[in-house]
Amino acid sequence: MNSSPSALSVSRETRLPHPAQTRTIVIVNQKGGVGKTTTAVNIASALARGGLTVLMMDLDPQGNASTALGIDHQPGTSGTYEVLLQHTRIADVEQESPESENLHVVPATIDLAGAEIELVPQVAREQRLSKAITQYLADSDVDYIIFDCPPSLGLLTLNALVAANEILMPIQCEYYALEGVGHLLRTINMVKDELNPDLELGTVLLTMFDARTKLSAQVGEQVREFFPDQTLVTLIPRSVRLSEAPSYGQTILGYDPQSVGARAYRKAATEIAERGARVPSGAARRGLER
Ligand code: ATP
Ligand code: MG
Repeated sequence: MNSSPSALSVSRETRLPHPAQTRTIVIVNQKGGVGKTTTAVNIASALARGGLTVLMMDLDPQGNASTALGIDHQPGTSGTYEVLLQHTRIADVEQESPESENLHVVPATIDLAGAEIELVPQVAREQRLSKAITQYLADSDVDYIIFDCPPSLGLLTLNALVAANEILMPIQCEYYALEGVGHLLRTINMVKDELNPDLELGTVLLTMFDARTKLSAQVGEQVREFFPDQTLVTLIPRSVRLSEAPSYGQTILGYDPQSVGARAYRKAATEIAERGARVPSGAARRGLER
């Protein structure tokens, strides 16, 4: 019997089902501060702790996902920038996260801020990441690849939309929650038509839900109307513990595993793992796209 500490830590968590093939999920919403990175790192960690192998790619020059996963991303560290602009192999720059031996991370350094512009004159500039992922998957058997995107629909996000098969859109339960969602859906359709026919909006996750306010409940209802099939049953509550964890270089699952935030992200990860990709439907969604 394997009794190493990491094996024990996996066995204490619920084991999650392996997908039939690698699932590539892009966390996207061009609105800033809606919980993209918090969702990316906590879902990635929950999947890894559930016994699945996960690669997280940090596509945001802020490097918040790298920080939260305890990964060095000082200037000079090789990561996403080198993969996109210097044909460096993902396998040569991925680092193991202290969160779990199952979780590897491609870090983002501040160099990535220049990539939006440096990519413009490059050949096949939208397919750089997709090619790197295809090359990686030829040698690595990984259950999930998760991309954390910056708050914009520029070339970094576009590369992730071309490389992924599924979209996970976090929506903050606040005023103007659906503002910009129509634009995002049109971008997704454009990418689907021109660059990546496999792309689907698989999951919508309500974040920063505050059970004490009517507003949160109203936003939740509205989002479920627009995305009846995609919205997870699990809501992520507003919780100070969730915002504290990154400053310790940890996810909430390491920082405070019994907190409401940790429980919510474990449940959300279980839902994602168990339900697989969903094909979008619903007249309301078509209304938003117009
Ligand atoms: P950006 O667009 O800048 O990349 P983001 O969409 O990735 O932002 P996060 O960085 O995950 O958003 O979250 C924004 C802020 O809100 C952070 O300070 C984070 O710690 C905090 N936060 C995220 N989720 C919650 C939550 N459920 N409860 C309380 N605070 C949260
Ligand atoms: Mg972020």
